Amino acid sequence: MGDVDLPQTDEEWAALARHTDAEQAHDEGATAAGPPAGPDCPDCGLAGDRYLTHYNGWILLEPLPALPAHAIPPRQRWLVGNSTDGEGLAWNTGDEEPRPGAECRIAHRLVCPGIRCGDVLPRLAALRERNRLRAARLDARRTLPGDLPEAG
Ligand SMILES: [Zn+2]
Repeated sequence: MGDVDLPQTDEEWAALARHTDAEQAHDEGATAAGPPAGPDCPDCGLAGDRYLTHYNGWILLEPLPALPAHAIPPRQRWLVGNSTDGEGLAWNTGDEEPRPGAECRIAHRLVCPGIRCGDVLPRLAALRERNRLRAARLDARRTLPGDLPEAG
């Protein structure tokens, strides 16, 4: 064994944990704003299902229904479990091969119409297009004038 700079104190271990948590959050895209911010996507305005991860990052998941896990690429599959407070924690299943018939959730950003990306999977392209239409309707509702001009 060489000279490995392992943390020596509780504070150093805590700092290392914070660093690796932040790295995992970044890698998995669990970078949504937590409460008190709303669960709306900053890029398209659509509301997502926001969950906490075990490393304290927030992930904005696409609303249900869940999708067939085999149709979703590795590291894009999310599951939500029940925690003791009933809130539910989300976790990314990484490279784990899904069981036959398993379902999963996906991060909203994967099908966010506000983020430009080349979709290679038709299912995701279709979801992105559906979200584009939903976001456009949401936009139209938000820009309706409060007082319509008087007719005549
Ligand atoms: Zn979005």
